[in-house]
Amino acid sequence: MTAKPLPVVGGPQDIFTSEFDEGPREECGVVGVSGIEGASELAFLALYALQHRGQESAGICAIHDGEARVHKEVGLVGDVFNAEALLKLPGRTALGHVRYSTAGGSKVLNAQPIVVRYAEGELGVAHNGNLTNAHDLKKRLVAEGAIFQTTSDSEVIVHLIARSRQETIDAQVDDALSHLEGAFSLAITIGETLYVVRDPRGYRPLVLGKLDGGHVVTSETCALDIVGAEYVRDIEPGEVLKIAGASVQKLRSLAPAQEQAPCIFELVYFARPDSRLWTISVDGARRGFGRQLAAEHPVDADAVIAVPDSANSAALGYSEASGIPYELGLLRNHYVGRTFIKPSQADRDFGARMKYNPVREVLEGRRVIVVDDSLVRGTTSKSLVKFIRQAGAKEVHFRIASPPVRFPCFYGIDMPSSEELIGSQMSPPEIAETLGVDSLGYLSLDGMLGVVAEHGSFCNACFSGNYAAPLVDVDKGYVPGNHPINC
Ligand code: AMP
Repeated sequence: MTAKPLPVVGGPQDIFTSEFDEGPREECGVVGVSGIEGASELAFLALYALQHRGQESAGICAIHDGEARVHKEVGLVGDVFNAEALLKLPGRTALGHVRYSTAGGSKVLNAQPIVVRYAEGELGVAHNGNLTNAHDLKKRLVAEGAIFQTTSDSEVIVHLIARSRQETIDAQVDDALSHLEGAFSLAITIGETLYVVRDPRGYRPLVLGKLDGGHVVTSETCALDIVGAEYVRDIEPGEVLKIAGASVQKLRSLAPAQEQAPCIFELVYFARPDSRLWTISVDGARRGFGRQLAAEHPVDADAVIAVPDSANSAALGYSEASGIPYELGLLRNHYVGRTFIKPSQADRDFGARMKYNPVREVLEGRRVIVVDDSLVRGTTSKSLVKFIRQAGAKEVHFRIASPPVRFPCFYGIDMPSSEELIGSQMSPPEIAETLGVDSLGYLSLDGMLGVVAEHGSFCNACFSGNYAAPLVDVDKGYVPGNHPINC
């Protein structure tokens, strides 16, 4: 095979590092387009709708006449792409990816899609989720002579496909997938064929839509809406689909998992409320959590306010169930990006102050119920309570529309280690004191699961410590753990 340089815009591809990011701290959104003219433009629009799933880097790879072109860069979708960049990405097949990672820094080399040329042609991979055995696989691959260019766990997938001894491309994909453990929603291109995959437990979402005689695959339905694609169905846990324009072929199902484990934190916080995940309306689930929260932790008050925007639906649910009016007591500045807030900021309240502003007229002299979707470190919440009191609130009752987050996530949600999780370090009364609130109430785990019970089982490891997919790397000491093994 002649080694011609990949037409990569936006970053060096020849950097060799031997380590992955320190730990599993990634969040991502993926897109795949097959058989539609202007595929990169559609991928761009879809990525815009998935921006909340990753704000560190964005990338699109388009395939035309057997050649893959990729543009990827650190930054938001709107900053990374312009009309000129998209014009350089012709073709009817495309992959798109947005990524956020706290460890490993903002490295363009970790931006996806990962694109390489191997024996069968151009290979592109866009991955959402975290492999729990990536270090283990990498160790073996490196021993066999593989050279890794990124510090992302997703690169092992590329190597496993490229090094497979199977004869057909379908069999090579299948072979590679059989080694993976953990969470993976994947869009893979080999030449102009699009393969889409969800791991057997179905941790992360992935949906199929159709448009103009071709197909679009995205992490969430809100991205299908923006490109005008018609929702066809969810990719099922363990499913491997081969898509070529209008044709969708079910290749196989990966070995079935004992139980399915779609991530409930997607419903709590991560996904957009205008999406339907696993046929569940995200807004509907959050309202349900809010209603249940009101039943579990009622309190007499004058107004229900949300920590915008992630808790808006839950606060509406609380208000509906309690009969206490929902009011706009906090406003969020939408132009403050996540990367803007530097942890080294001397003033601890600075990040929250930039992002949220209390509405004095709503809060002054009132007893308010503040609803948030989740409590992670407790730092933002502590600042918020301070601002709300400074704005004149007489009583502040904090209500959390999920149980205490006590355990790190190894399946693709960016959560700190247990030492940094306030729910892991303190009891609810201690948390109430730290936040400076008059009362605190968390939604119970049973209450939360009850709201979505008709939709089956969910991963709730961050609340319960029950990790369904084996934590191979943690158990072998490759990545920081601090989880109770098999509890
Ligand atoms: P804190 O007050 O520092 O505990 O922050 C809690 C807020 O962070 C909640 O309002 C959530 O909306 C948001 N949040 C929850 N999980 C995450 C996450 N994985 N990444 C970023 N923000 C999150």
